[in-house]
Amino acid sequence: MIEKNLYIKTYGCQMNVYDSERMADILKPLGYTLIDTPAGADMVILNTCHIREKAEEKVYSDLGRIRPHKDEKMILAVAGCVGQAEGAEIMRRAPYVDIVLGPQTYHRLPEMIARAQRSKDKKEGPGRGILDVEFPIESKFDHLPQEHTTVGPSAFVAIQEGCDKFCTFCVVPYTRGAEYSRPISAIHEEASRLVKRGVKEITLLGQNVNAYHGLSPHGEGEWGLGQLMAHLATLEGLFRIRYMTSHPRDMDEGLMMAHRDIPQVMPFMHLPVQSGSDRILEVMNRKHTRKHYLDIIEKMRKHCPDIALSSDFIVGFPGESEQDFQDTLNLVREVGYGQAYSFKYSPRIGTPGALLEDQIPEEIKSERLGRLQELLFTQQKAFNESCVGKSMPVLFDRRGKREGQLLGKTPYAQSVYVEAPARLYGECLEVKIEKASSNSLTGIVVTTESE
Ligand code: SF4
Repeated sequence: MIEKNLYIKTYGCQMNVYDSERMADILKPLGYTLIDTPAGADMVILNTCHIREKAEEKVYSDLGRIRPHKDEKMILAVAGCVGQAEGAEIMRRAPYVDIVLGPQTYHRLPEMIARAQRSKDKKEGPGRGILDVEFPIESKFDHLPQEHTTVGPSAFVAIQEGCDKFCTFCVVPYTRGAEYSRPISAIHEEASRLVKRGVKEITLLGQNVNAYHGLSPHGEGEWGLGQLMAHLATLEGLFRIRYMTSHPRDMDEGLMMAHRDIPQVMPFMHLPVQSGSDRILEVMNRKHTRKHYLDIIEKMRKHCPDIALSSDFIVGFPGESEQDFQDTLNLVREVGYGQAYSFKYSPRIGTPGALLEDQIPEEIKSERLGRLQELLFTQQKAFNESCVGKSMPVLFDRRGKREGQLLGKTPYAQSVYVEAPARLYGECLEVKIEKASSNSLTGIVVTTESE
């Protein structure tokens, strides 16, 4: 087999990171090996994200940067949500792109590559690109290779995909399609293979991960996320289970009990609220109120008192008044977050939010975002500082920039820098936290035995 070079650039969320890994797995049997630059690549894939502002423009500017490296043999593909949403337009504006595909069709990449290659061999020239942005009836998960090519101490496993909720700011229901949950047995097999190869932490992924309702192992009825995690916790060697991203409407008692009863389920929950104002939550079509969200937090803290919370916020949604924004600030003060992500609203074409009148001027959005981030930053720093002097298990899942330095994760998903020999990479060890900054912790190893 001829050896070939593959370069993948991944934008956006963890689901895209997972998809990129799986694309590399699909292409490995065709002789493709990952490299970290587009120069000299036989195939380049831009695995795009449509969530953030100017997503399309970022893709076009990256395509422009790659174009000078594109020789006769290179196959250039745009995958992911921008591919799904803008497929025909990409083909029109960048006719040198060979393949455009969506998130649900990447299991067909080998056929697409063969077709692109035939077109190249026939010298059909630009404008003969392949567009595959269907939502096929068969599940792509059934067609992905069993083995992950590269594994570290932490791995992602997609368990659910798509969304039926249609928040008015979000493109996901249009780019990822309807909600789909993989069967329990398929997830268990994938997790089991990863654990056998040394994975100690698995993050279960889904756009609405806690809406998970997969076919039970014996094919009778469906199980929720809490039951799935209890089942995975029986895998010997799996130390940690995480999940993201959740929706408040899908938080159920079973999931809260899983946090209380299953030691492998980490005391961390990312539960986006987006706004603290009932009026804005309604226009966003979030299908929950501020009180509903706060009740969940209260219940969760009863079951799991040390849980660290994270959230997403959008400021400047159309019609947001200063009072609505104050409601968001008050909600943040009431909850107290360990970390959070916050953004200015930017209209996404094709979503109902983009058509709303009363769009908020940019300078007001920026000013509000500044105030919100200052508050979130203060909370994150205080949370990190509250860890100083404590010992906690840290999974070393990354190598530091310097020789003799490792990076790990606490149960609360904070990054920790530790001076430690490289052989401890992949271990989960007790670390005493000595210093905290707003973004990370520093500590020393106090035991050399795994968790
Ligand atoms: S729940 Fe809302 S924000 Fe989350 S993926 Fe679905 S539509 Fe988007």
